[in-house]
Parts: sequence; C-alpha cells; structure tokens
Amino acid sequence: MDRRLKWLKYGVLSVLVVAALVSPALTDVLVEVEPFKTAITVNFVREWYFVAYAAGWLVLGLWLFKGFCRYVCPLGAVMALGGLLRRRAWIPRRPDCGSPCQLCKVRCNYGAIERDGRVRYDECFQCLDCVTIHDDPGQCVPLVLAAKREVRP
Ligand code: SF4
Ligand code: SF4
Repeated sequence: MDRRLKWLKYGVLSVLVVAALVSPALTDVLVEVEPFKTAITVNFVREWYFVAYAAGWLVLGLWLFKGFCRYVCPLGAVMALGGLLRRRAWIPRRPDCGSPCQLCKVRCNYGAIERDGRVRYDECFQCLDCVTIHDDPGQCVPLVLAAKREVRP
C-alpha cells in the first residue's frame, strides 16, 4: 500500500505540469492541493472547504506519518526525481544491513529502506536517523553483538 501510494505524487505533479501548459487559470485551482497556503500563509482564514481540507491533513497526521509529503506533495515528487539523479550512495551501510538486520528499515519512518537493506534515495528525506543508528555502538545490531562477544569471558 505504501509503495503504491508513493506513485500518487507523480500523478499530481503530472497533472499540474499539463495544467500549467494548457490553462494557468486551472492551475490556480489545482495548486490548492497544497494545504500550506491555508495552514501557513493565511492562517486558516479562508472558505470552509479549504480549512476542512487542510485540517483533514492535520488530523490524518495523527495516524499517518507525513502522509501529504510522502504521497501527494508535487514538490516532494520533484525532489524524489532529483534523488534519482544522485551520483553516489552517501548513506553508509553494512554487510549485515537487510540480511539479517532489519533495524534501520523498521526505524525509517519514511519507508525508504528496502528489505534487502538498500536505501531508496528517491524516497529518502535525509533525516539521518539510519546514519545515527549506523554510527552508534549502542544501537547498530552487529556492533552491539560484537561488544557483547568481547565482554564475555
Ligand atoms: S542497525 Fe546497523 S546493521 Fe542493522 S540495518 Fe542499521 S546500520 Fe545496518
Ligand atoms: S536518512 Fe532517514 S529517510 Fe533516509 S533512509 Fe535514512 S532513516 Fe530513512
């Protein structure tokens, strides 16, 4: 479900790009898919349906971590496409990542780490949580296990 929903933002971006080419007036309406104008720029002082839409995302955020950013945001789609153009894999990984260790995959709130341990840079928000775990002898599982082996008599 998460993987499928992530395609949605590319659809939103495509619709906006086509609309910008054929009808600037329609684009003005469609850009309201972004709730930030309502929530931040005008501080919820707008027609009720804009407020309801923005508030809906806020309520959904109680259960769905950054749902708008991950699934719908057209700017997020542009940044994800930028992630595909990256030249190097800058997030450190270990041979144990993904096989057998799944800790970083489970802890990545953005679902940007595959079961085999690879980072999906197009979906990575660069929060650095997995980098912190990787470098922490108290969290990174192979480091924890190695430390335990060392203290055993
Ligand atoms: S805890 Fe360490 S070994 Fe496990 S996935 Fe994270 S970086 Fe890789
Ligand atoms: S940097 Fe953050 S978003 Fe990117 S893979 Fe690591 S935990 Fe996930």
